[in-house]
Amino acid sequence: EGHLLHVISPLSHTPALSGNYPVLRKLALELRTAIAEHQLELYYQPKISLQSRQITGFEALIRWNHPIRGLVGPMDFIPAAEASGVIIQLGEWVIREACRQAARWQQAEFPFKRLAINISLIQFEQSNLMDILESSISETGVHPERIELEITESVMQSSERTIEVLHRLRAMGFYVTIDDFGTGYSSLSYLKRMPIDAIKMDKIFISDLGSQKDADIAVSIISLAKSLQIRLIAEGVETPEQITFLHKYLCEEVQGYLISRPLRADEMERAYDSICQWAYSLIGSSSLTV
Ligand code: C2E
Ligand code: MG
Ligand code: MG
Ligand code: MG
Repeated sequence: EGHLLHVISPLSHTPALSGNYPVLRKLALELRTAIAEHQLELYYQPKISLQSRQITGFEALIRWNHPIRGLVGPMDFIPAAEASGVIIQLGEWVIREACRQAARWQQAEFPFKRLAINISLIQFEQSNLMDILESSISETGVHPERIELEITESVMQSSERTIEVLHRLRAMGFYVTIDDFGTGYSSLSYLKRMPIDAIKMDKIFISDLGSQKDADIAVSIISLAKSLQIRLIAEGVETPEQITFLHKYLCEEVQGYLISRPLRADEMERAYDSICQWAYSLIGSSSLTV
């Protein structure tokens, strides 16, 4: 990890990108090639239950093994993929690949509850998302209960349709999580009606838990999830102090570099036991009595 796509990254973070047609078109073309030539790869980052201290599952995070630029992270191409529409093909590749991996792990009885897939807003609004999910499930044989869909909070502004789609996804058996929670604009009345299983508190609230204000916000989000009776996941956990805090306030799950960086599937299989031991010792040493 780490080699950034310098040519594109300064642009990809600005809304101006959508107006920068030559760069956008070039990148969109390159991404089509990347899909066709198998340059894309999913990495997997574990999530840990603070109650059981076990790995509950993994989040699939896309990487681009660029022939010249090396390993490129999603922040350097997802925005362009969204702006150009290539996200549709890219997202379909991600769903199929993640389902194949989940099926392999399910088959091998590798211990995990769920494998999470990030779904971008554009995919969510795509009319054939259900078909892609359905065929990926039936072709790979993975149980839908083992697939978690991480959908960013901005979907919540959308509409009645959003609620309907979420209902259908859950009726199909998928586990649905709202990602980057706290960065969007969801009203509480919307949230109350959202058929979801979990919310994932954005890492901006975790990074500065030492400040009273951020700690207060984090506690409010945790209690909001409690009153809605949905699970809360905290992402971006980097220090033992953050674990102690989250454990104390009864957050259910954590994910972050402290526990493990995203790894390739085979690396994850080899690292599994040591990640479990490490997580066990971390949470054990946060010695909690609430
Ligand atoms: P996200 O879904 O919110 O994923 C969390 C990001 O935080 C990941 O970055 C992850 O590697 C990073 N992270 C994990 N632990 C820590 C930590 O302790 N500290 C910090 N600072 N960061 C941590 P990544 O892999 O670069 O992905 C960035 C974003 O790109 C994701 O945010 C997601 O929105 C998007 N993305 C990644 N893969 C896919 C994909 O397959 N499809 C779509 N549509 N979007 C994706
Ligand atoms: Mg995510
Ligand atoms: Mg996200
Ligand atoms: Mg996030």
